[in-house]
Formats: sequence, structure tokens, C-alpha cells
Amino acid sequence: MTEALRPPIRALTGVDDLIRDGQVPAEGRAVLDRVAAEFRVRLSPEVAANAAPGVRAQFLPDGAELSILPEELADPIGDAVHRPETDGAAVPGLTHRYPDRVILHATQTCEVYCRFCFRREAVGEAGTLAEEEFARVLAYLRDHPEIWEVILTGGDPMVLSARRLKYMLDRLSAIPSVQVIRFHTRIPVVAPEKITPALVAALDQRPAVWVVVHTNHADEITPAAEAAFARLTRACIPLLSQTVLLRGVNADPDTLESLFRALIRNRVKPYYLHHPDLAKGTGHFRLPLAEGQAIMAALRGRLSGTALPTYVLDIPGGHGKVPVGPGYLERQSDGSWIVTDPNGARHSYRDL
Ligand code: SF4
Repeated sequence: MTEALRPPIRALTGVDDLIRDGQVPAEGRAVLDRVAAEFRVRLSPEVAANAAPGVRAQFLPDGAELSILPEELADPIGDAVHRPETDGAAVPGLTHRYPDRVILHATQTCEVYCRFCFRREAVGEAGTLAEEEFARVLAYLRDHPEIWEVILTGGDPMVLSARRLKYMLDRLSAIPSVQVIRFHTRIPVVAPEKITPALVAALDQRPAVWVVVHTNHADEITPAAEAAFARLTRACIPLLSQTVLLRGVNADPDTLESLFRALIRNRVKPYYLHHPDLAKGTGHFRLPLAEGQAIMAALRGRLSGTALPTYVLDIPGGHGKVPVGPGYLERQSDGSWIVTDPNGARHSYRDL
């Protein structure tokens, strides 16, 4: 159960605020100032009032972020590699990695700045997509009818006002080839009060609107977050979740089991468990792939398939996302298979 620090009042937007609010000790200020000069700091009121360690570790700056490892990248999943062009100029705000879908960065602003974010060097920099830029996005979509899904993601698209979102969604919906609009957002858990009736009404569109909630710990699923989920599901908006596997936050089967059960209970289907990306200054959150596979194997024995996400790795450099196990099949030299069951026992299986 989440412990409350005090009632949420306002966002905390820098080291001064964090010290004044008692979130971090003043003695650490010199280091935290250096961290904040590299990577933005912001806690929403909802997050600032949540004293659970698994929540605080995701948002409070830490001196470990100053250790930048050689393998860490400014753009770990290669958004920039897949920026489409028209007339020799990049289409602003778009990433076109797979033929049938695009990512639309409607804003680079977030309600919180997560310490492990794979877009941490991009978020917070520029503001919202300008009108002329959005017009170029719409033109690109009209010229590419093979694109059936538009994914609005980081920054956090739900920081936009309900009015602005309705304006954008109405225009996207007017393109017949757009069949699905997907939001990736942390708002239902970090600022649930922003899931207003007006915002929910804006999501009522001709294309199917899906919302993927980014959440990493059951202590983020507060009563206010549950009420926000309910406002969305009552409006028939399907909800999925994405979680990043993070050392010091959720990297053990018990913690993830609690999170996935809390999500399923609230009609949110756990969709992806991400292996952490090679974002700069996030080495303290990362763990070996084999450890992630062992956690997933333990969860398979405990949870139904509906509550289990797929464990995925975004291949650095923009080569896409793949499931990374664990595997349950081993090919034998005679063509048969050995299948490992959820308890670790091995069984022979012969194909037709
Ligand atoms: S893009 Fe998402 S993960 Fe990154 S800081 Fe914003 S809310 Fe957090």
C-alpha cells in the first residue's frame, strides 16, 4: 500500500524544490545540481506525495547518473535513424520504423522526468508540435496509406490539453487509412487527475484508440490511478501496460507479480516488459538479460498468461524490438524437441 508523504500541492521542478520539500537531503546538493544540469528533474504532485521506495527511485535524481558508460547512447532505440523526409527535409515529430505504423511526438514535454528514460536527452527540449509541423505530418500520412496506426508517445502526449488532443485526433481520424491511434503515457499513474471527462471524450474517435500505460511498480497504482483507469475503461478504451525492468525498482518476481496482478485487476493487460535501454547515465538500473529471463521464468509459474507481458529488448541502433525469452524449447539431434515446463521439468516432444 502506498504511503502518502503529504497531500499533493504542486509539481517539484528542480533540486531547490526537492530540498525544500524534504525529498532529498541538502548535503547532497552539489552532486544533484550536476545531475540536474544533464538530465531534467520534475515530480508531479501525485508522485511527490508518494513515499514508496519503488516510486521514489524512478524519479529522484541520483549521483549514479553522472557515470556515463562507453556503450551508452544518446538515442538508444534509434528514433533519429528512422525520421522520414519529404522534399529533402525531415518530417518534424515523426519516426517511421515499420511500414504500417509511425510514432508521432506531439510534444517533448512530460509530467515527470523518469531517471531511466531512453529518450531522456530528447524530452523537455522542444515544446509542442507547431501547427505548420502538424500539417506536414498529416500530409505525410495522406501520402502513405500503408500507415494504419499512429502512435503518440514520448514526451507524454497526455500532457496536452483535452482541447488540443481533440483537435489533433479529429484531424488524424479524417485520414481514412488511419485505423488505430495508440497513446503511450504515464499520466494515468503520475497525474491521474488529468484523465478528465473532457480528455476521455476527446478519445472517442472513428479509429480505435488504445492507451498503453507506462508503469513500473504496484505502488504507483494508487486509488487515484485506479479511478483514472476506470474512467478510461468505462469509455470502452482498451488499456495495455508497458513496464521497464529496473534494478532497485522492480527487478524481482514478487514485485512484478504484485504489479501485474494490480494491472489485471484494473482491466489493464500487461503488454511489454522492457529490458532497460542503453540510455546515458542509467547503468545503475540495468541488469543482465539472463537475470531478466530468470524473473520471467519464475513469473510464468505463478501468473496466468493474461497477466504476463512479453519480455523484449529494443536492439540498440534502431533495429527494432524482439522477444528475449526465456526459451522453453530445445531442438534435439534427431529432430525432436525438449520442452521445459513452468516448474523447470523437461519433457520430450515429437513433431508430426
Ligand atoms: S518519455 Fe516517458 S519515460 Fe521518458 S521521461 Fe517522459 S514520461 Fe518518463
